[in-house]
Amino acid sequence: MNKITYLDNAATTSLDPAVLEAMVPYMTINYGNPSSSYSIGRQSRMAVESARKQVADLLGAKATNIYFTSGGTESNNTAITSAVRDLGCTHIITSPTEHHAVLHSVEHQCNCAGVTSSYVKLLPLGAVDFSDLEAQLADKAALGVKCLVSLMHANNEIGTLLDINRASEICNRYGAIFHSDCVQTIGHYPINLAASGVHFASASGHKFHGPKGTGILYVSDGINFSPLIYGGGQERRKRAGTENVHGIIGFAKALSMAMDNQAEEEKYIRSLNNHMRAALSAMSPEITFNSTETSLYTVLSVNFPSIKDSELLLTFLDQMSVCASGGSACSTGDEQGSHVIAAIGKKIGCATIRFSFSRMTKEEDVDFAVKAISNILELFGNAEVTAG
Ligand code: PLP
Repeated sequence: MNKITYLDNAATTSLDPAVLEAMVPYMTINYGNPSSSYSIGRQSRMAVESARKQVADLLGAKATNIYFTSGGTESNNTAITSAVRDLGCTHIITSPTEHHAVLHSVEHQCNCAGVTSSYVKLLPLGAVDFSDLEAQLADKAALGVKCLVSLMHANNEIGTLLDINRASEICNRYGAIFHSDCVQTIGHYPINLAASGVHFASASGHKFHGPKGTGILYVSDGINFSPLIYGGGQERRKRAGTENVHGIIGFAKALSMAMDNQAEEEKYIRSLNNHMRAALSAMSPEITFNSTETSLYTVLSVNFPSIKDSELLLTFLDQMSVCASGGSACSTGDEQGSHVIAAIGKKIGCATIRFSFSRMTKEEDVDFAVKAISNILELFGNAEVTAG
């Protein structure tokens, strides 16, 4: 098999071997159920609670603010459901560029719980128009309508960042509940959740070299919510089901490794991103970008106007063992293409590909992908010449 050139780290990352090593004892010798009162059960309980404390310390929170979940999707669903069901929100303000784990959850609340929703206006490249957010919140507050605002910290397809402190400040001013999907930023930036003022924040372990199927929901002090999943009394009665002990250990270890070397890794990943941007810019003046140098540093979203279809380009890249993506990994197979690219008004009939990097990416991976793209573009150019 050819060597894989993996440039799809916003979809998922490889498990760091040190994370696996930390997890293995909790699948082998320390297999006790954390709810059992005998010694190996108590050991598991202690491991889960010390992981919770470690995660909380790394994110500027208290252990009591952290709930372990199965990932970003569950955390987003829990926050949105709870804001409607438990916190009295009857209108949801979100954006058309959110992940489907937010958009479809909002849609479900509108269909089943009778709430209404609206989109905040977007500036070029999907940045939130704060004056529109404020105007919408002011209108609703004047009518006595309590709002949930759900806006992602960084867009997973194009990397546009949100100033969450500013969004929190506006939401708090109008008595709104603020949820932020931080799946692409927790583990990649230093974040102090308590200081940010968010009420709910979601994170996912597999985006920073932790295990899949792990995540957290941060819930700020004073926010009382009921579970999405009912059953036993785990997670302080907020999330039933035997804890994914090895996953929780892996999540905490991966987050701690990510934050230990965050500044150096950010610098390194930025250099790869800039390197690819420069190489593609030099290849053709037609190639343009949906990410800027100040957006999420792990993502580079690129438009290739000479190729009409993202899937076609991805197929060619796949044949050369280059892994990239046309949008969110969760919407693979969605024939309508990327809702994010459509929402930012860039549906210009050309292939848009997201390349995304991690600390495991090598410069030679970027060089290999750039060469592959150059060969494919040449092939398409020649095909047009031949056809003409
Ligand atoms: N939110 C964003 C922004 C994401 O990028 C993803 C995953 O791609 C999710 C939510 C879903 O997270 P998970 O895969 O942990 O359910």
